[in-house]
This record gives sequence, structure tokens and C-alpha cells, in this order.
Amino acid sequence: MLELQNLEVAYGSIKALHGISLKVPEKSIVTLIGANGAGKSTTLRAISGLLKARGGSVKYDGEDITNAAPHKIVAKGLCHVPEGRMIFANLTVEENLRMGAYLRKDSAGIKTDTEYCFHIFPRLKERRTQAAGTMSGGEQQMLAIARALMGRPRCLMLDEPSLGIAPILVRAIFDQIVAINKERGLTILLVEQNANLALKISSYGYVLETGCVLLEDTAESLQKNPEVRAAYLGD
Ligand code: ATP
Repeated sequence: MLELQNLEVAYGSIKALHGISLKVPEKSIVTLIGANGAGKSTTLRAISGLLKARGGSVKYDGEDITNAAPHKIVAKGLCHVPEGRMIFANLTVEENLRMGAYLRKDSAGIKTDTEYCFHIFPRLKERRTQAAGTMSGGEQQMLAIARALMGRPRCLMLDEPSLGIAPILVRAIFDQIVAINKERGLTILLVEQNANLALKISSYGYVLETGCVLLEDTAESLQKNPEVRAAYLGD
């Protein structure tokens, strides 16, 4: 569903991605792991059109979307939940969800999807009238994912959903990422520092190092790989 070929990205004169190639099959969960600065967030930003590719290509559903405008990419159903979440702090939970549906006009569908979001994240239902900026980090992450779902995406890119969140909420969020993948058939590209958790829910993974793909394999094999275990899984 999503395919990168030799993607190159630079910040000014400094190259951050040196030709990344990867595939995310439809309805799968694929993870990018790697140390700080490996290029994981840069990869997601380039896919969603927020950074310009200097070389290579991004294909989505067989269509070349390299360097397309971000709003056009979102409209195709490819949605990015950035690191740091970027929720609207002064709006309530419900208002944030409505913002996620701003391209839609089907009020019945919007209502159904709001209910679905409240079903997978009951915490958001309890806090529907609370200003989003006053919620905990984990609750804000739930809201960021729910707001993305309100756009009815087919492919979701999640950047560090576990970052700075209490372990109990991390578990709840990861359980729901799996549920969204199964129940809604959403394709998911996940970027995570918590490689253990990410590989547990993924079918395939890529290890990035200094802007290159160092290793790729099934998530099961990566979890067993001694080098991966030593470098990324805390062995
Ligand atoms: P982290 O987990 O720390 O976010 P990452 O794997 O997502 O790491 P990126 O944020 O993609 O890494 O960064 C890749 C490289 O690009 C790093 O060397 C980083 O310093 C550099 N970089 C990222 N953003 C910018 C920027 N706005 N300007 C200049 N260099 C940048």
C-alpha cells in the first residue's frame, strides 16, 4: 500500500536520509526502529509531504505521491499523527474530534466514528468537554489518534505514540492500535523508541541507522536477532 524507493531527504546541506526503501503492505502493522537521530521522524515527514524529497519516490496505492502537498496526501487517506501530538490545546476533546472530520460532510458517519473513538478510548468520552491541553500526555495521545481516525484514513503513520506516557496508558494505547488495525483494516506505519512493544504488535520491521536501512526482517525474527536485542531491545 505504501512503498518508498531510495528516498533521500536533507535539511539544508545535511543529508538526513540516504536512500530509504521500505514497503508497508495493506492492512499490516510495520515498525521503524532506531536510535535518536536515525531518521525515523524525517521518513514520516517526507511521506506526508511536510519535507521535500531530494531523490527517490513515495508510492501510495500505486500512485506516485512524492512531494505532493500535505493536504492532498491526507485527502487520499494517508494520515500522520506527529510526535508531540499537536492537538488543539484550547479546544475540548469533542471539538478536536470535529476538527479531525473537517473534510467530511456525512454527519451520520461522523457521529458513528465519534462513537467508535469513544468506544476504543472510553477515557476520551469521560473527558469530552474538557480542554484538551489540560489532559495527561497519555490522554492527549489517545485524542491525537482518535482525531486522525475522524478523517477515515486507510493508512495511519504514528510517530512515537509511547513517548513520555505512563506505562499503563501505553498498554491501553497499543491495545487499541491493534484493535484499529483488526477492526477497521487500517494499515499502520509505526515509529517507536520502545522497540520491544512495537515489534510485539507488528508483522515486519525496519532498523534505521544514520539515515539508512541497516536491517529489515519479520518482527518475530528481529525480536530474536542477537544484535537487535543488544542494541534496541535492552538485552
Ligand atoms: P528521534 O527519535 O530522536 O526523533 P529520529 O530517528 O526520528 O530520532 P529524525 O528526527 O528524523 O530522527 O532526525 C534525523 C536527522 O536529521 C538527525 O541528525 C537530526 O539532527 C536531523 N534533523 C531533524 N530535524 C532537523 C531540522 N529541522 N533541521 C536540521 N536537522 C534536522
